[in-house]
Amino acid sequence: MISSFETDKLPQGYYKKVGTVLQRRDSSGEGQSLLLFLRDMGPIWVSAPASKTKCRFGGAIEPLVWAEFDLYQSPARLYLQGAEVKEDFISLRCSAEKLKSALRLYKRLSKTLMVGHESNNILILLWSSMLLIKENCPVDIVEYRFTWKLLKEAGLAPSLQYCVNCGSKLDSGARWTNDGLICASCSGTNKEDLDADALKSLRFAALLNHDKFIEWTGSQEKSSLYTDELKKLVTFFTDMD
Ligand SMILES: [Zn+2]
Repeated sequence: MISSFETDKLPQGYYKKVGTVLQRRDSSGEGQSLLLFLRDMGPIWVSAPASKTKCRFGGAIEPLVWAEFDLYQSPARLYLQGAEVKEDFISLRCSAEKLKSALRLYKRLSKTLMVGHESNNILILLWSSMLLIKENCPVDIVEYRFTWKLLKEAGLAPSLQYCVNCGSKLDSGARWTNDGLICASCSGTNKEDLDADALKSLRFAALLNHDKFIEWTGSQEKSSLYTDELKKLVTFFTDMD
């Protein structure tokens, strides 16, 4: 849970890292504190002094923008010294649906990630999800995919292949329990929540590689399946809101 500015300090010196801004906080008169999510460093708080904020960093410290950040660790603090925009995802700002969806991904990470822990797999997941939104993939499916993969990284994702109760393959259909999906025989007389087709779609959404996913979503009809399943998935986070 990200709640503190206190982290183990880096050795004094200069650093250059690619990443994105997860959160910004204005500290009165002193400029801004930025929670950057950086390659090899994970999420890390940096100070962007007020006098330099506007002219030096321009659009690079806007939310959703990806940049290469120049940092300096002084004996006291980690400072942002410069930034070069790599991808501004400007097209997302022209669509309220895409923008809101991307912001939800960022918000989820702000709540889930640990400051100071390298999380390159999750940084790549965020980058890939942003590209999928930019590529016009349906945002409900992208959010479902992102959330399942994020849970997977944390070791918390419910299996889409095997019954959580008896371990047999989920082929014909499945039912939700608090622990995960259970198979038809473990469900007894209770009605299934997901039929075989729905299960297959959920597996594709979560497991197809980036390019295959783009191709597959092109053939998907609008359905409430993914938003319904997303509501189930978020209950598997340990920091439930
Ligand atoms: Zn079972």
